[in-house]
Amino acid sequence: MAVLDREFLGMGAEVQRFENALEAFFDRPAVCVNTGTAALHLALQACGIGNGDEVLVPSLTYVASFQAVSATGARPVACDILPATLTLDWRDAEQRLSPRTKAVMPVHYSGGTGDLPGIYAFAKRHGLRVIEDAAHAFGSSRAGTTGDIVCFSFDGIKNITSGEGGCVVTSDQDVLRKVRDARLLGVEKDSERRYAGERSWEFDVTAQGWRYHMSDIMAAIGLAQLGRLAEFSDKRRMLARRYDELLARHPELFRLPHDYAEVVPHIYPILLPDGTDRRVIRSRMLDAGIQTGVHYQPNHTLTFFRYGEALPLPVMDNIAPRLLSLPLHPDLSLPDVDSCVSQLIDALNG
Ligand SMILES: *Cc1c(COP(=O)(O)O)cnc(C)c1O
Repeated sequence: MAVLDREFLGMGAEVQRFENALEAFFDRPAVCVNTGTAALHLALQACGIGNGDEVLVPSLTYVASFQAVSATGARPVACDILPATLTLDWRDAEQRLSPRTKAVMPVHYSGGTGDLPGIYAFAKRHGLRVIEDAAHAFGSSRAGTTGDIVCFSFDGIKNITSGEGGCVVTSDQDVLRKVRDARLLGVEKDSERRYAGERSWEFDVTAQGWRYHMSDIMAAIGLAQLGRLAEFSDKRRMLARRYDELLARHPELFRLPHDYAEVVPHIYPILLPDGTDRRVIRSRMLDAGIQTGVHYQPNHTLTFFRYGEALPLPVMDNIAPRLLSLPLHPDLSLPDVDSCVSQLIDALNG
């Protein structure tokens, strides 16, 4: 309400306040933008990634990761995932290296960071930048507090939201400066002037920029949500633990091996038994009033990103038709989880 009363709705002091709060949270600087996709795009661009370059990305991610790479002119190279955590398999990624490979983009699927130390060691051996897609991992697994460049999303369903929004977190001063300028059409130092309530009437532009800044309205929502992170995280963890407990009786259904002392679960995916018709299960559950999700279709099967990989992605291809996400959000109750599981088991038993 204070932002609305000030009647300045664009990017101004409230965005700086949100960035300061994020900086305190991560213990290093954060730059806010209008979506998580924009955060990834600007992070890649700030690393100088563009036409002719390649970026290694797990096939199991939201299409945002792939589109952010192709937006720079670079090609996203789909990599296979580890069967235990459903995160990037760097040994598979290593097989897909080329002289054009510039970066690797691990995705913290459901909040777990997988073999992140292995990925950083792999990146170091090959001189790659690491841009973490931590859209699922706000508040999780110490994501953002270390690492090369870490990108978050604050869209409406993420662990915290600003309506729409995202941020880039890094200790790299050059990347921070480039992202700050590029989010405001490349207008140099426009961020600093806007924080002071001023505008840039005379300026220079030295690089491609975009309209990717966050507004004060979004920042105010984000700040309020950040204050509720502990409440949301506790709730997500409690619900996921209940799922784990109930599904432990069904070893035929794969679950992620999350340690909820570390992980704030963003989604609750399971793998259905081989040969199960997922559409039937989903429609039976929907008939019982339960919406389920599929996170995600493999990106290497989408028309725009299907280039005919040199190597197959056997783990991804095997799990793709079996992935099913059960409801998980802070407005659910424990009895809701109980009924989701019992409806799931009924659906599986026909
Ligand atoms: C949500 C999401 C994004 C993109 O974030 P937006 O804020 O929606 O642009 C990127 N990657 C993953 C894995 C996501 O879930």
